[in-house]
Amino acid sequence: MARQCPECGSEWIDSVQVCGDCGTNMVAAELAAEHEDGAAAAGGPSLVLLWKMESGNLLEALVDRLEKADIPYVVVAGTAVSVFEELPLEPDHLPEPWRAQVWVVEELQERAVRVLNQVLRPGS
Ligand SMILES: [Zn+2]
Repeated sequence: MARQCPECGSEWIDSVQVCGDCGTNMVAAELAAEHEDGAAAAGGPSLVLLWKMESGNLLEALVDRLEKADIPYVVVAGTAVSVFEELPLEPDHLPEPWRAQVWVVEELQERAVRVLNQVLRPGS
């Protein structure tokens, strides 16, 4: 299966998350497209950054909780973060492989934040 960039039409293999031609986050665009039906009248959903982590040890727990809460999410990790933020890929500036961002649909942000708080402060 190939993945096509919704912005410029370039085709990439499935493992490519960010279009190399125009920088569009194709995974985020696909997630947004899946939820277009319900939010079309409002101009379409937008994704918001839920969490930007410097350590990956809570990523698995967060993703697991989001799935159980039926909240769609997008994880951008490693070098994709660098492309996404348009940082220069200099040899002494390579991102750590465990660096990751979690994005959620804006309309579910409040629920997602509650899930995040449960993961960060269990028992509270
Ligand atoms: Zn593109």
